[in-house]
Amino acid sequence: MIINRSVGPVSLSTPVMTAMTQQIVSHRSKNFNLVVFRIIELLQLLFDTKQMPMLFTASGTGGLEAALVNTINKESRVLSLVTGYFGERFYNICKLFTDDVKKIEFKLGKAVDLDQLEKELKQNHYDAILITHNETATGVLNPLEKIIRVIKKNSSAFILVDAISSVGAVKIPFDELEIDVMVAAPQKALMSAPGLAILLASNRILRLERKTPSLYFNFKNMIHFMEKGSTTYTPCIPAIFALEAALEIIFQEGEEKVYQHHRDNAEFCRTELIKLGLQLYADSNFVSPTVTAVLLDDIMDPVEFKNTLEAKHNVMLSLDMDNQQSKMIRIGHMGLIPKAQMDYSIKNICECYKNLKLQYSN
Ligand SMILES: *Cc1c(COP(=O)(O)O)cnc(C)c1O
Repeated sequence: MIINRSVGPVSLSTPVMTAMTQQIVSHRSKNFNLVVFRIIELLQLLFDTKQMPMLFTASGTGGLEAALVNTINKESRVLSLVTGYFGERFYNICKLFTDDVKKIEFKLGKAVDLDQLEKELKQNHYDAILITHNETATGVLNPLEKIIRVIKKNSSAFILVDAISSVGAVKIPFDELEIDVMVAAPQKALMSAPGLAILLASNRILRLERKTPSLYFNFKNMIHFMEKGSTTYTPCIPAIFALEAALEIIFQEGEEKVYQHHRDNAEFCRTELIKLGLQLYADSNFVSPTVTAVLLDDIMDPVEFKNTLEAKHNVMLSLDMDNQQSKMIRIGHMGLIPKAQMDYSIKNICECYKNLKLQYSN
């Protein structure tokens, strides 16, 4: 068995796998409605929100598109805060719906710069601002609360947050932070199966009249069905069963403990890699609780490292997002990982690195 230390989708625990293998029921049936009501209850607890969560059958990227079509139209002025590949993706989707998108790119490995953001907001008016909370490509956790504070002080723009790889690892109180649309997905730190985009929208988004037409991604239609314990169209039913099981696990364990677990694993991972002499890619003030990115020595081939680690040590990790253009390796520590498994992963990553380095220098 290969241990999955990639940056997602994560491997599933037995209860989540079991939940997924249940017989398919109609999404208009009582039993299904009960599952959806329970998911709504748990998601509202997770996000401290009174808003109705939405479950679209789509990958996380579909969720980003849904966030945009329900918020902007072709006249909208949008500011996109880009700290890496996933910020760039949000920006690229946005460009499909309006020509007026300004992108601020921050140095890779850095977080959003608050002064630069404030300066921009004082100079220009925006209708919406796009933020990637946890930049999975660089292992940076952006300071969401501080970013929002700067925005609220200077602008009334809608705040759209890609929280796909942070939800489940960091508390995000949706109402209190005054986020307008948040996008999550189950296959990262929520430790569930892929196939869903989980969204929340503020009342000012739900009241909006002028946005981009979309049948499938219509928030109001979805909420109408969510209130009845269902979804607008046939959802990925096994993924919904899995999500319920995964959320139950989070609350059985205790939310705070799950967050602490992520922080502890991330710190353990960083400490061991630094001991090897490797450089963290992310600014040490903004390290991610779900992804650790480091650069290998110049002499090393990351593809060879990855392949050797898989073949000889049974551990899988991720390389960079640009198809091995850099020396980056990324290690995912998402979800509740048994301690022995985490220890094994890191020990073998370190061993593999030492062995390869010895080979290269001979
Ligand atoms: C994984 C991820 C996505 C994309 O999710 P898909 O389900 O693959 O579409 C988007 N944003 C971030 C930050 C991610 O980590």
